[in-house]
Formats: sequence, structure tokens, C-alpha cells
Amino acid sequence: MHKEAGARVRGIFVTLRELGFGRKRLRVRVRGQKRDFISSLLGYGIDTRGKLGRGSVLRAVNSTATVKMSGVGTSTGVAAYTVTTSPAKSVENRPSDADSKKHHLKNGKGFQNPWDSFQELKIIKFFADALMRRFKPAPTPSPSPSPPAPLPTQPPSLLRTRSHPSLRATWLGHACYYLEFPSGLRVLTDPVFEPYCSPIHLPHLRRYTDPPCQIEDLPFVDAVLVSHNHYDHLSLGSVRRVKAKFPGARFWVPLGLKSWFESSGVKNVCEVDWWEEGEMEMRRVGKEEGGEGREEVIKATFTALPAQHNSKRTPWDTGKTLWCGWGIESGGRKVYFAGDTGYRTVTSVPSGTSDHDLDLPHCPAFSQIGAHAGPFDLGLIPIGAYEPRWAFSAVHADPRDAVSIFLDTRCERGLGMHWGTWALTYEGVWEPVRGLVGALRERGLGGDGKEGEEGWEEESRGVFGWSGVGETREF
Ligand SMILES: [Zn+2]
Repeated sequence: MHKEAGARVRGIFVTLRELGFGRKRLRVRVRGQKRDFISSLLGYGIDTRGKLGRGSVLRAVNSTATVKMSGVGTSTGVAAYTVTTSPAKSVENRPSDADSKKHHLKNGKGFQNPWDSFQELKIIKFFADALMRRFKPAPTPSPSPSPPAPLPTQPPSLLRTRSHPSLRATWLGHACYYLEFPSGLRVLTDPVFEPYCSPIHLPHLRRYTDPPCQIEDLPFVDAVLVSHNHYDHLSLGSVRRVKAKFPGARFWVPLGLKSWFESSGVKNVCEVDWWEEGEMEMRRVGKEEGGEGREEVIKATFTALPAQHNSKRTPWDTGKTLWCGWGIESGGRKVYFAGDTGYRTVTSVPSGTSDHDLDLPHCPAFSQIGAHAGPFDLGLIPIGAYEPRWAFSAVHADPRDAVSIFLDTRCERGLGMHWGTWALTYEGVWEPVRGLVGALRERGLGGDGKEGEEGWEEESRGVFGWSGVGETREF
């Protein structure tokens, strides 16, 4: 059923009166071409894909009439696996305080970080600092007004078969990794392939490093892990493209996000709370390109794990949906995807000292993750978007925090992420890697290499290193 909303776009906003209240999927005609976007719960419309223009005609689409749901999963267009998922249940070996659900707000209206390692950012201070930067030299390196140089990028060489003895991780930029498990399972984390990580396409929010491939180039996707709803981690366009190419893929999301997916026409969604897990079973029912010789059944367990962060998609929905990291286990190999997280909150740093000289509470959840869900063969841990510390430390780890998270969660090997893609904060492009090498040296974990012309050299990658964009690391 198509209902003409009759709204016309004026700039990027569509008014409440024109669209009415309630989340809607909208079909838009722009110069004769059909495009989709989602209006918010309050009914205002933000052009999340930057495709609208003055005079574009919007039509509300009844999403249930346009969604087809398939019970048969496939990664290549050939029906090869039936996919079943179990309802989420509490992890048996969970921390003693997990059942108190302190991260749920009492009124049921959202979520919070329940630790004294988290303090809310004073928004007035944030804007005052931004204003001051216009009039005096910044105390920390500022992003250049021209885009930073992109990172070296290579086209990924992904397996065209599900048979391979080792665990492989390929960085596709920011928090997006493509994971190939020896069991045959293929996982994509936080896919965002669009140029902008914002509904408003300001020039400085354009990515300076392009993805090394497109979603359509990936050979298989069985599961997509979403950490939270910030635009640099969750993109409507990318979700739709994954669904179109891999209709059997299951989207694993934290509590509260299922309705966003469903209203976007994506129904294969498993919603999980911290310290809950869901199981996925893929049973082969037919031939699949590259699937020959694989096990009849591929099993995986996905566990939502705590993270110190928040969520926000619009000005009015802060903390309404949950944020999380993920533990993935398949065929005896285990990966920890930390999502987006802080470790401590540094409100101010006395001049002449480092914020790591300060004795501050750190988030206890990571030791619990290590004790109850670890050890992990591999940890994917954020190392970037952390300056200035007083503004971002509560929600974004710096490299020293990242090494602490790596150790607390009992990861045997680690790879950095959440850097080198968008200029979200004030540190220089290669600072996260430089800081990681220093932090590893401090903790006696290697990092002996030196900076080369194109970044850092191989030997400095140690037990916790990083990938080039499009590079595959094997474990
Ligand atoms: Zn975030």
C-alpha cells in the first residue's frame, strides 16, 4: 500500500505537519529515480543519504507491503543453507552482578553506563572549547581544514571458498572488519560504506580513506554485528545493501535496535542484552559456490558484552537503544569485537602531566569479559577518536586504554580499529598507531618497530597491531 504523503523537501528537513508522527519508510523520487529513507519517530525527516533536494516528492511506503522475508539463508544467491537462530538467553557463566541490569534505566526508557569510570560530558564545556579553538592555537593537533591524506589501501583478497584452516580478519575501514572463521562462518562488523558518517553532509565529515571494496564484492556474509546506532557504525544504506546481496544474513543488534531495522524492511534481526547470547545454526541444503566440502552444519554463538559508550541517532533519542561489544565463537575459535568504547573518564589534565599519570577509576566490565567470556584468539579494539581527552575519554579509548582493554579481556592477539577513516576528533591521522606502539612498549608487549614513510613498519605490530585498509591478517 503506497500512501502519498504529499510532502516536499525544504532543505534537509521535512516538517512534522507534513509527515505526521511515527517512524516511516519513505520512498523518494529525485529526478525520476526512486530512493528510500527513514523518517524518525517524531516524524521529522533527515535526509540520511544526502539524496534529497528542494522539490523532491516524498511518498510514505507501508513497509510490511514491501518486505520479503526468506527462511533460507544464502550468501551467493544460491539457496545453500537454512539458517536458524535461538532466542537470546542469559550466558550461563555470567558475572554475579549481571542480573541486576544496572545499565537499564529504572523507567524503562533507555540505558546508561553503570560505572564510576563514566562521567557525562559537559556540553557547555565542549562548545566553549570549540569556540576557543577558533581564536587561539589548539593545544592538541587539529584536523587540517583540507582532508588528511588517505591511508594506503589494497583490494582485499577474500576467500572464495568456505574452507580454510586459519582465522582471517580483513579491515574494511573504521569499525568494519570481515571475519573468516575456519568453521566456514563469515561475519561483518559495523558496516558503513558510505562517504559520510552523518545525516548532514558537511565537507569535513566525508571519509578521507575510501573502503577497499564494496559490499557487493564480499563473497559471503552470514552474520552482521552492530555495536550501536551512531552513524559511523550503523548506516541504513549499507544495511540495505547487505540485505539485498545476502538475504539470509542475520543482523545481531543490541537491545532496542530491532524496531529500527524492522521499520527499515530488515527482518532477520536478533536483539540481545548485555550478557545474553544467541546461537545460529546454518544447515546446508544445496550447492553453494565455494561451499563444496564444507561441514553440513556451521554453528556460532554471539554474546553481547558491555561497553562504555552511548547511543544517539537524532537529537531526541540519546541512550534510548543499547550499545555493546560482541563475543563470537564458532568451531572453537573466539573473537572479541569491542565496538565503540571508553575505559576511563579524564575530566581535566593538570599541565605538565599525562592523563595516564592520574589515578582514575577504570571500567570493570572488561575484566569481567575476560574472566567470563575469554580468553579470545583475537580482539578487535578501537584505538582512535580520543582527543581532546576531557571531551572523548569517557566514550573512546586512547591507545593506552586500548592496551588495557586488550589485557583485561584476555585477548591473545589484537587489531586496532576506529581510526584512519573519518576525522572525528583532534588527534593526527597516525597518532593512534604511534600511541599504540608506545603503549605496547610500556607494558612489555613489543612494539619495537619504527615509523616509515607510509606509517609504521611491520615489526612494530606486536601482539596487538593493526591492519592496512583491505589487508588480511591470519591467526
Ligand atoms: Zn559511537
